[in-house]
Amino acid sequence: MLSHRDADVATERAVTVARGDGIGPEIMDATLRVLDAAGAALRCEHIDVGERAYLRGHSSGIPAEAWESIRRTGVLLKAPITTPQGGGYKSLNVTIRKAMGLFANVRPTRSYAPFVPCAHPAMDLVIIRENEEDLYAGIEHQQTAEVAQVLKLVTRPGCERIVRYAFEYARAHGRRRVTCMTKDNIMKQTDGLFHRVFHEVAAEYPDVQGEHQIIDIGTARLAAQPERFDVIVTLNLYGDILSDVAAQVAGSVGLAGSANVGERVAMFEAVHGSAPDIAGQDVANPSGLLSAAAQMLVHLGQAQVAEHITNAWLRTLEDGVHTADVHRPGHSARRVGTQAFADAVIDRLGQAPRGLQPARYRAGGIQVRTAPPVPREKRLDGVDVFLDWDEADRDPEILAARIGAAAPAGWRLKMITNRGVKVFPGGFPETFRTDHWRCRFVPWTRTEPVRFADVVTLLAGLDHAGLEVIKTEHLYAWDGVPGYSLGQGE
Ligand code: NAD
Repeated sequence: MLSHRDADVATERAVTVARGDGIGPEIMDATLRVLDAAGAALRCEHIDVGERAYLRGHSSGIPAEAWESIRRTGVLLKAPITTPQGGGYKSLNVTIRKAMGLFANVRPTRSYAPFVPCAHPAMDLVIIRENEEDLYAGIEHQQTAEVAQVLKLVTRPGCERIVRYAFEYARAHGRRRVTCMTKDNIMKQTDGLFHRVFHEVAAEYPDVQGEHQIIDIGTARLAAQPERFDVIVTLNLYGDILSDVAAQVAGSVGLAGSANVGERVAMFEAVHGSAPDIAGQDVANPSGLLSAAAQMLVHLGQAQVAEHITNAWLRTLEDGVHTADVHRPGHSARRVGTQAFADAVIDRLGQAPRGLQPARYRAGGIQVRTAPPVPREKRLDGVDVFLDWDEADRDPEILAARIGAAAPAGWRLKMITNRGVKVFPGGFPETFRTDHWRCRFVPWTRTEPVRFADVVTLLAGLDHAGLEVIKTEHLYAWDGVPGYSLGQGE
């Protein structure tokens, strides 16, 4: 329904709405009433996902008809859901994120001081987190009695997509700087790739300042001087932590919304959970879902409606009309319930905040394209063979001698490391050693590239000598540049 006088003249858009569990239905009702009063041009398709769907036997909480709706509309406004206790239930959020390719997690975080206490009133930043890759690919193995590993997967198109998204977002929202955070001083292949792609893409956006910070000092700076940051783009795990640090510093975790955006589908939700402790009491704050809904309207090209809503909401906060979680005696004027808060926002539609920075949204949905892969020469230089070995006091000299006797002609044992520390040749007896050994093999002469058949022969030799191979990693060079980390002194 288009009812507000300043509303965008927009084509009605179908959106999928999940009312969720716990406080979900209350805050969704409040949010939809505000959207309607502001003139958002939406047609809502309601789906039933979450606790009831889990208990009906859908292991990820999403029945088939809900998937159909999400895929048809391409936009999901989701209230928080409750994951039932006990095993066998898969996270609904992770399932939607992965199945629908929602590669960008977008979390704006700002200060609402003095209405919500925050030591950094000028804080106003957006964290754009890569949402699918990195340590969250969920590929883990226990390899020996003592050692478990997780695979950290970082792809060039994945990096390019999220970095481009961050620059496009900055441009579309009039933001001036994008800060990339990685740990590429340690992880030169994975985080190094993210940083390199950032560097390449930044050159295409001369109107936006690009900078890089190492994640540890970057996080410390974010906690101490958040007003220095504008847009931050980073890998999945760092972004996960950074978003919570930022929300905590802003003091506004209960007010924050987030977007999960993919090429075809986007999901918008509050950052908080379903708060079963206060469900059904009309006391929950609908602000997180409302700010997610504003992000959704911007995504749908209804930026002006989103501005009306956010500005009316800011004015409501300024007027001291507060729900219990934000209410402070002496500072707040009126303590209200969920629906009365929504009414207060509706009453202020068309008004702007007096002290807080008003919202200015310009963008519609952001589309990013990635470049096709550039062909590169790939050459196999050698192989890292990982062994499970727990004999002879874990003495690497003894292991090296056994390997030397077992390895077929043509292969040279270049080094052995234990937890990444070189222990052969020339290790220190003080180095802690576990039962997990990486043995790097290269050919004695390098006239021809190594063939896979050579690796198989090597593995057969080691196996024949009773050495337990647990995995291998091929050492590829790309256009002559090693695509693997070098050992100490290599
Ligand atoms: P929670 O965010 O639901 O609650 C933490 C505390 O914050 C509670 O005291 C709660 O009353 C309060 N709170 C949360 N939202 C509020 C609001 N809008 N207004 C006022 N107070 C609010 O976190 P939890 O207790 O750890 O989790 C409860 C359930 O939510 C769990 O089942 C969890 O799996 C689920 N959860 C869902 C999502 C999601 O759907 N995106 C996210 C987080 C947690």
